Amino acid sequence: MKNKKQFHHKSLKLDGQERKGLLVTAFGLHAEVEDEQGNLVRCHIRKNSDPVITGDQVYWLPEKEAGTGVIIGHLPRKSLLCRPENAHKLKLIAANLDAIIIVTAPPPVLSEDMIDRYLVASEILKIQPVILLNKMDLLDPEHTKEMTERLGIYQKMGYRVIYSSTYTRDGLSELDEFLREKTCVLVGASGVGKSSIIAALTLEPVRVGEVSAKGLGKHTTTNTHLYHLPHNSNLIDSPGVREFGLWHIDKNELLAGFIEFKSFFNECKFRNCQHEMEPGCAVQEALRNKKIDERRYASYLKILAGLGQKKKGKSK
Ligand code: GDP
Ligand code: ZN
Repeated sequence: MKNKKQFHHKSLKLDGQERKGLLVTAFGLHAEVEDEQGNLVRCHIRKNSDPVITGDQVYWLPEKEAGTGVIIGHLPRKSLLCRPENAHKLKLIAANLDAIIIVTAPPPVLSEDMIDRYLVASEILKIQPVILLNKMDLLDPEHTKEMTERLGIYQKMGYRVIYSSTYTRDGLSELDEFLREKTCVLVGASGVGKSSIIAALTLEPVRVGEVSAKGLGKHTTTNTHLYHLPHNSNLIDSPGVREFGLWHIDKNELLAGFIEFKSFFNECKFRNCQHEMEPGCAVQEALRNKKIDERRYASYLKILAGLGQKKKGKSK
């Protein structure tokens, strides 16, 4: 990663021949770029250039063959979502996002662990998160009640929660309205219905059920892809992840990602309180008084333990 910094756009030399475009999808050193007239250009990415990703506004130069070009760099980014691929390498997911839509579905399980991790990432990146619970059609009234209670905790913290079903189309207009004039990414495990949601909202062709249809152990090559929606919005589909690692952040960043803890920090007895077992810890007190949700606190401890583990692994 370090070497690549040398190729950052500061060193980019523009001579007036370059054109601008929107990167719609990238696979290895190839990418599809939408030019300013809305035409798709097949571009290649130079091996040692600054990495580019879906959602990037790029500079590109046309090549001899019509409809082809080479990407020479990207414009400054409003935001950039990454996730660690391993302890040493961050994988870019999407650029220039206004919001991150965390998609989950009740069956087989509602993964609050995944939600909490993406919320931490969103808080660090200062990109608005939205929690979307899809496949609501599969729930009976009792389960619906349970889900709304569990997600109600997030709503109380001020997060937006949308309940949807691509089968009954419930919640889709609410989502569509939220997405207007924005560029957003759908994140979450595979099989929760991300492609189906895009297919329900866009006029472009979308391949549904691709990831889940593949057998166990098969490598999925699905790419991150940007789709245009009516009302000037862009929606980016990202390949499903089993787990969203947060090894690259430190404890303070993690704490900042649990926004409901924040108001208690100042009341802790010790200024350097770690909010674990110190006497006079206001976070612990809030936990006892049920002002902080027990499951959220457990989730915080779990992610915290993960930060430590990976660091040990790194220094081996
Ligand atoms: P992705 O891997 O997150 O992109 O998920 P897909 O969109 O490929 O959907 C996975 C499976 O869930 C497919 O068989 C879809 O038909 C199904 N599915 C998607 N949305 C819903 C929904 O709202 N309700 C139900 N019951 N099934 C859905
Ligand atoms: Zn404390």
